[in-house]
Amino acid sequence: NETKLEAAFELLAKIEEGGGEAYIVGGAVRDYLSGRPLGDIDIATSEPPSHIQKMFDKVIPVGIEHGTVIVRFRSVSYEVTTFRTEEGYEDYRHPDEVTFVRDIKADLARRDFTINAMAMDRYGTIIDPYSGLAAIENRQVKAVGDPFDRFTEDPLRMMRAARFSSQLEFEVENGTRQAISAKSSLLRYISVERIAVETLKLYRGRGYKKAISMVSDTNLITYLPIFNTIASFTNIAPLVRLSSWPELVTYYLTYAPSFSIKEWMKRWKLSNKERRETEELNNALNEYLVKNRVTPWLLYVLPESLQRAFARVLQAKGLADESILMLLKEGCKNLPILSSRELAFQPQDLISLYADKQKGPWISEYMKEIEHQVVERHLPNDYEKIKEWALLWNPPENN
Ligand code: ATP
Ligand code: MG
Repeated sequence: NETKLEAAFELLAKIEEGGGEAYIVGGAVRDYLSGRPLGDIDIATSEPPSHIQKMFDKVIPVGIEHGTVIVRFRSVSYEVTTFRTEEGYEDYRHPDEVTFVRDIKADLARRDFTINAMAMDRYGTIIDPYSGLAAIENRQVKAVGDPFDRFTEDPLRMMRAARFSSQLEFEVENGTRQAISAKSSLLRYISVERIAVETLKLYRGRGYKKAISMVSDTNLITYLPIFNTIASFTNIAPLVRLSSWPELVTYYLTYAPSFSIKEWMKRWKLSNKERRETEELNNALNEYLVKNRVTPWLLYVLPESLQRAFARVLQAKGLADESILMLLKEGCKNLPILSSRELAFQPQDLISLYADKQKGPWISEYMKEIEHQVVERHLPNDYEKIKEWALLWNPPENN
């Protein structure tokens, strides 16, 4: 943390040499003051993007109209944003206009929660007009200013309150919580992509159980697609933290039986990669449930990159304990083959064996069965042995 801050202080100093003011703001100040590891460091400055572009060699314009650029400084990226306020959230989505302002205090006023509304200068001095430090000490998520107004301006903040309470294991302050209950229906105006980001962060946080209860009690749940169809949603909370959408969908799939994986992907606008990973996790889960153990076939179909995710899903469902990960890691070292390409008997061999038979889906079905037999060590991965086995098999007739 200290070295990360030192590097950022140098960047602040450089902006000051250029005649501007600059501060570390938002999450980095919050995390530093609460003794948590720092993520990305955001900078607020009096200078417009055009000046910042002149001060540093590597500047990426990511949101010039909002006053934001990314500065690469000593191999670290910083989001540098000109002091601004946001006005008129007519469509509940984006501020109609941003107004650049002259001082840091006006910039802090636009921020969502008091814990996120602090700034630190390059000497480590904290600027804290909304008592964010006290909120950290009291472990509270509290809106800056009037919570009803702040949630009306930007309803996503209600989900952010829940996710910060989960990440930090803080309570949501009473007035702020009441405002969420009152304004929860405004969440309908927020895009599902933005809700998805906060929902996942909520599940990844240590305080996810309390946060889930809050989402349910305040009625935010109504605006979370599919989750809102699950009866006794709070009672079926995962037993451990889940850390990706494929894990979440695999976990909840059986609790929302009328929604397929495809439906989850569509409603939550998830990616093709997330879809593929969900299918892989779900296939592995079904194999585990049917066979009641980690079979070689399970290890074979589950990509190594999803072993951790799969272990978490099993633990979340109470189907395994922490030792499961080791079992998965060790188990997959002993597989006879790692992919169908390694089979000693290939589709072409099967086709030659049944040369008088018309090509059709039976080929891939047979190959799948051969693959299964070899993976499970019911058959050695040997051309002659597999051929023998394939010949004994009832010759395919009508399919
Ligand atoms: P994380 O560690 O998850 O990135 P963070 O505090 O940095 O936490 P971000 O979403 O990256 O959260 O936002 C950075 C800062 O911008 C916040 O700390 C807050 O001050 C401000 N901010 C972000 N989103 C909003 C919002 N919807 N309304 C008001 N202020 C916001
Ligand atoms: Mg951030």
